[in-house]
Amino acid sequence: MPELPEVETIVRTLRPLLLDRRFGRIKLTRNDIVRPAGFDLPHRLVGRTVTDITRRGKRIIITLDDANRFYVHLGMTGRLTVEPAAGPIRPHTHLCADLCDRQDRQLRFRDPRRFGGIGWLGLGPDDERMGPEPLQLRPEQLFRRLSKTRRAIKNVLLDQAVIAGLGNIYVDEALFAAAIHPLVPARDLSPVQMRRLNRAVKLTLRRAIRHRGSTLRDYVDAAGAAGAFQTLHRVYHRTGDACIRCRMPIERIVVGGRSTHFCPGCQHPAG
Ligand SMILES: [Zn+2]
Repeated sequence: MPELPEVETIVRTLRPLLLDRRFGRIKLTRNDIVRPAGFDLPHRLVGRTVTDITRRGKRIIITLDDANRFYVHLGMTGRLTVEPAAGPIRPHTHLCADLCDRQDRQLRFRDPRRFGGIGWLGLGPDDERMGPEPLQLRPEQLFRRLSKTRRAIKNVLLDQAVIAGLGNIYVDEALFAAAIHPLVPARDLSPVQMRRLNRAVKLTLRRAIRHRGSTLRDYVDAAGAAGAFQTLHRVYHRTGDACIRCRMPIERIVVGGRSTHFCPGCQHPAG
């Protein structure tokens, strides 16, 4: 599932392809991917020019020249790409938007499993239930958020209302980098551990962005290229491999229904 580094990479690769382009004919083949239900998205897009493309959490936010905004969420299998208009349209492509001034190109949204979708924000604010951005998170902000809950740190970091943008890959990698066991209750972390975690989250995300995200199955950037960070994962999907720090085999457990990878040698429950 695309997380912050993958979505950030899509935003960066989408900008040169989509910024200042005007939408022409819009073909939406599935209305149920659009929120709110029944919203006439093609009508609001046609003729409008894209003036900004940003990221908030795991969402790609596109601003139009009438100041309206909408977001694309990629869910599990979503792809948002700019492709040759003459190219074959793959199954499960739900939206094709012609770009007027580049008639040979189309913005396409494809999502076989349909956990993703497109949401209209209009002139309204971002989703206020979403937590702060991890790359801008100050240690005392993290401290405040973690010290309120006894839930396992893994689950707390996955909660988009606590911190926006993290998912299974980067939570496992950041907890390893910070040497924190995934099951430790969040409020039991010491101030030193919380500072270490805040630093580890940022370092992990920045490294992943530098390597253009992780491609496990479906993720590609806006130009269709895969990421390279998957080869640098230290624990995620590396069950049984020797830990790079202590050589103990990486273990896999299930936390909150999610596959969780950690080193039993470096990540102690007692901290
Ligand atoms: Zn280890």
